Amino acid sequence: MNIALLLKSFIDLLAVLLLAIGIKGLSKVRSAREANLLAAFAMTLAVVGVLFDSIATNGISLNAWVWIILGSAIGGSLGLITAKRVPMTAMPETVALFNGCGGMSSLLVAIGVALFPVSAETKILTKDLVESISIAVSVFVGSITFSGSIVAMAKLQGWLSTPAWMQSKVRHVVNIAFAVISLVAIVELLNASNSALWLLVIGSGLLGIGVTLPIGGADMPVVISLLNSYSGVAAAAAGFVVGSQLLIVAGAMVGAAGLILTQVMCKGMNRSLISVLFGGALGASSSSSEGNSEYTNITSCSVEECALTLEAAEKVVIVPGYGLAVAQAQHTLREVTRALESSGIDVTYGIHPVAGRMPGHMNVLLAEADVPYEQLKEMEVINPDFPATDVVLILGANDVVNPQAKTDSTSPLYGMPVLDVQEARTVFVVKRGMSAGYSGIKNDLFDLPNTSMVFGDAKKVLGDLLVELKELGIGGKG
Ligand code: NAP
Repeated sequence: MNIALLLKSFIDLLAVLLLAIGIKGLSKVRSAREANLLAAFAMTLAVVGVLFDSIATNGISLNAWVWIILGSAIGGSLGLITAKRVPMTAMPETVALFNGCGGMSSLLVAIGVALFPVSAETKILTKDLVESISIAVSVFVGSITFSGSIVAMAKLQGWLSTPAWMQSKVRHVVNIAFAVISLVAIVELLNASNSALWLLVIGSGLLGIGVTLPIGGADMPVVISLLNSYSGVAAAAAGFVVGSQLLIVAGAMVGAAGLILTQVMCKGMNRSLISVLFGGALGASSSSSEGNSEYTNITSCSVEECALTLEAAEKVVIVPGYGLAVAQAQHTLREVTRALESSGIDVTYGIHPVAGRMPGHMNVLLAEADVPYEQLKEMEVINPDFPATDVVLILGANDVVNPQAKTDSTSPLYGMPVLDVQEARTVFVVKRGMSAGYSGIKNDLFDLPNTSMVFGDAKKVLGDLLVELKELGIGGKG
């Protein structure tokens, strides 16, 4: 056996193993950073494997090496710069963009193989059925992933909004038309018509736009993780196209992981995938600030009053939300909780699965501030504890603590599992004003008699709270 081929097989096997271990490690906050590095290393190994493959098949072809190394260097640098510069709050848009890049790569690989074959035998007109199907699937899923992800990114960035007609039933007719065009193009492609390739690119691209554009509000993270799964499927299909077992296995793993995450997110929001994909926009955007007109019983209090109540508490639950991430108040929060703990107060954190703007957002944020993992309690675990809780301190969270989700069947949030914070003795809500959360609706919690609003930026309020607690002798004198 050719030594380069042997090395390539070994490197491929190692890359797949490391990728699988990396994906597994990503499921725990504690191991996520190392797991991410491991998966990135596995992908670098995969590129090295391709270099050995090119030796095995063509001898050292400098031309091919230059392209492969140049492409990896440019793509890798762009990814690195983007990931370093993007703020935590814009992570969903970034993930959507990266998914789109994955879809586009698979699309381009399939188009490249179809139009510019290495030899006459691999030309699409003479391909066997399996290869032609692989090209069709890669183009179809790759194009949907690319256009859908770009639309998702543009919507999250606020560059694009859903046109009114896209909210109506007409969109189903339009999307069915795009799906039929794509199907016809696939059949034509299998009958060896190269012109059908472009019809398929356009038809499936429009389908990706048509399906993603009407989806709004709280459903967007589900769509992004579904598109992540699609990018894996497209990569696996591209693996069949270029005959790369590594790409097939890696693509299948990403596809399966994305699908599992999609399921977890749907469960977290109590939504079925069908209702996410075909139900249209849910709620308004985060910029909505109209909810306050309906409030009738708002009580607000000062930071000092909040500190006095905390001083007398035995059990405190912190509920972090998107606003905590915006304010970048995680480190100040950690100082406050350290002070409370030093006075013997039991502090835990109630983590809603979709708090923030991406899966695991709160876990990552709190891990950054060295909050011990054992103190992070998932929603199902913490909910039974609220009746025995003295104080709940809500920091920039809104939708995930809205009791309407359980009590009002007409609410867009109805059915979404929420944290039962209203069961606690006292609830403090730290936010800047009465603006609505991501879903754009009123929060019934704010009107309850045991809820007090502490208005202000989360970081500023927590800083002031720390001073007040120290004044009271909690966490050392100020
Ligand atoms: P939310 O419902 O969006 O509420 C965030 C609150 O933070 C707002 O009411 C805002 O009120 C407040 N806020 C903003 N900046 C602040 C600051 N500097 N200081 C203090 N407060 C600040 O957030 P959530 O409760 O975390 O709920 C998450 C929502 O996003 C859910 O609807 C979820 O479905 C959706 N979502 C989740 C994901 C995910 O994967 N986790 C992804 C996308 C969307 P003020 O403006 O009055 O301060």
